[in-house]
Order: sequence, then C-alpha cells, then structure tokens
Amino acid sequence: MPKITTKTTIADSARKQMTEYVKSEFGEKYLAPTPRFYKNTSKNAQEAHEAIRPAKANVTSTQVSKDLGLQYGKLYEIIWRRALATQMADAITESTVVMVDGGKGAYTLKANGSILVFEGFLKISPYALEDKRLPDFIANEKLGFVNSASEFHETLPPPRYNDASIIKTLEEKGIGRPSTYATIISTIESRGYIEREESRFKPTSVGIAVNDFLVENFSTVDDIPFTAAMEDQLDQIANGEKKWVPVLKEFYKPFEETLDKVKDAKRVKIEVEQTNELCLECKKGNLVIRTGRFGKFLSCSTFPDCKFTKPLVQETNLICPKDGGKIVIKKTKRGRRFYGCSNYPKCDFAAWKLEDIKSATV
Ligand SMILES: [Zn+2]
Ligand SMILES: [Zn+2]
Repeated sequence: MPKITTKTTIADSARKQMTEYVKSEFGEKYLAPTPRFYKNTSKNAQEAHEAIRPAKANVTSTQVSKDLGLQYGKLYEIIWRRALATQMADAITESTVVMVDGGKGAYTLKANGSILVFEGFLKISPYALEDKRLPDFIANEKLGFVNSASEFHETLPPPRYNDASIIKTLEEKGIGRPSTYATIISTIESRGYIEREESRFKPTSVGIAVNDFLVENFSTVDDIPFTAAMEDQLDQIANGEKKWVPVLKEFYKPFEETLDKVKDAKRVKIEVEQTNELCLECKKGNLVIRTGRFGKFLSCSTFPDCKFTKPLVQETNLICPKDGGKIVIKKTKRGRRFYGCSNYPKCDFAAWKLEDIKSATV
C-alpha cells in the first residue's frame, strides 16, 4: 500500500522519464520549457518523500487494467495524468473583456470571453476548459437594448469549521504541526470552548468569553503571526538550530509582564441565554441557561437571591422511533451532542445525527 502523501517532490530520474515520454508522444512543444519543481506548502515537511507518481511514464492505464483490474487501472490513470501534466507546457488562452457603458457612465456592463489557443497540459489533464466566445465588437459601437432581468442572490456566511477544515486552516497559517492538530482540537473541546453540532464546531459562550478576554488582554500571544513564528522557533530548537533558553526567555519576559497587568483586568462575564420559563421557586425571576464547570444548566435570573437550578434538557419536536417518547438533545461526558429519548433509562434510543432518527423510523 502506498502511503498517503501530500508531497510534491519528484525524483530527477522520474522527471527525465516523463519528459522523454511527453516529447516522443506529443512533441516538443507540449513540454514545459524548463523542468517544473513544486514547493511543499506545509511547514517542516520531509522533503525527501516523493509524490505518488507512476513508476514508469510509458506504462499506460490500459496495461495496468489488464494486469491488475479495472479499478486499479482507473486509479492509475488519475495519477499518471496528473504526474505527467506537471511537466507539460502551459495552456494558452486568449481573453477578451468588453465593457459596455450603460448610459453616460451611470453603470458599466462587463462581458468576459476566452478561447483556448494552445491546449498544453490540458491535452492530458482531465480539466474541461470551455471556450466562451463573444460576438465581434467594434470599439465605441452603439448597442441596442434587448432585455433586462433581476436575479435574487444570497451570500452565505462561511461555514463553521469541522475537523478537516480547521486542520487545513491551521496548516495554512502555520499554527500547530501534524503531531499536535488532534491535541489542539481535543483541548478546545474538552475545555468546553466549542461544541459539535452534527460535525461542525460551534463556539460556546465560554469559548466566546475566553476568546474576547485573550484578544483584549493578550493581543500579542493571541496573534496568528506570533504563534506561527513561535512554532517555527520550536522547530528550530527541535532541529538543534536554536537554543531553547534564549528563545523562551525572549517569550517569557514580556509575557510575564502582561500576566502581571492582567491580574487586575476586568473579569469577563459569560453571557447567559434567556428562556421564557418562569422560576417556580421564587416566581420572580426567569430561568436562564448558564455555563458551569460541567456544562450548561438552568438557573434563576435573580441568582444569588434565588438559588434554584435544574438540569438543562433541550427538547426537540421529534418523536422517538422506539417508544414514541420525546427526543431530547443530550451531551456525552466529552461534550459531544447526541439525540436521546426523554424516557431514558426506560428507553435507550440514541442517535448522533438527525438522519439516524429518520432512518430508524422507516
Ligand atoms: Zn428563582
Ligand atoms: Zn424512546
């Protein structure tokens, strides 16, 4: 089994082979003018590892399919095309932009066209590039009005992070290393800074409060470039390029001073969530959702005057497929949300996702 790799390094011998193949198969003009090298984007990557590539450029997927079966042939074809394309010439397109003045500069209309002039690497890479041909125009030509229509367009907020997307972002920003990504995520989760909704991370009120506090009082430490530079220095210590004492000293001196100042900083209030349920004990306050060390709970808004509390059960309007009880949202000890039956422990129905409840009904 090949190892999964994100490496882009290609051995010189392989590069030569691929170059020869492209030249003899498609002709010299399909060859990149100079050999192409790609930089690894991830930090501290072991450059010695090679990319996944065909062992021999002249072995085609037809051959692999015959020897190993169609599935392997298909997989091989993807790798083969991608690898060879990296050493081929650029595709050349001709782009045209037409700007139309819609009435004395009141607004400008724009049309983009492009046609492929030379296919280059596209000859082999399965990337469909469609020609967008514009009709012929003459500069300053007067155009007739045909029709106008308005369209509804909605811009969605960026989706919340999940495991894969947060690791990708950490990698891009140079925060953490492959060996620490899992720890970073499990730490923010076990401290209750985030909770999972389906597989997405949602900041909790504690998480938001901690973040606000850090941004306000530890602006340097909280800063992304600072953390990335710190990670680099730790790498250098690990590689023996830097001594750890001076590095830590440089970090700790100003950090210690900040810590000292922050001692008297304003305490951050963790936002409570309002409910419209009246407190049955004092009949004065409303119940609010607070976050404590063990997660969320309901308590009276007049606390500390009234000390009433009760566990928080988030209800849904779903019905338990097992016994018709009410489905409620619960949390595991590790803070992961799941759907359970309000008749627990009499009924043990539980599901991670909404779909699981629906599929259990059918
Ligand atoms: Zn009360
Ligand atoms: Zn049930």
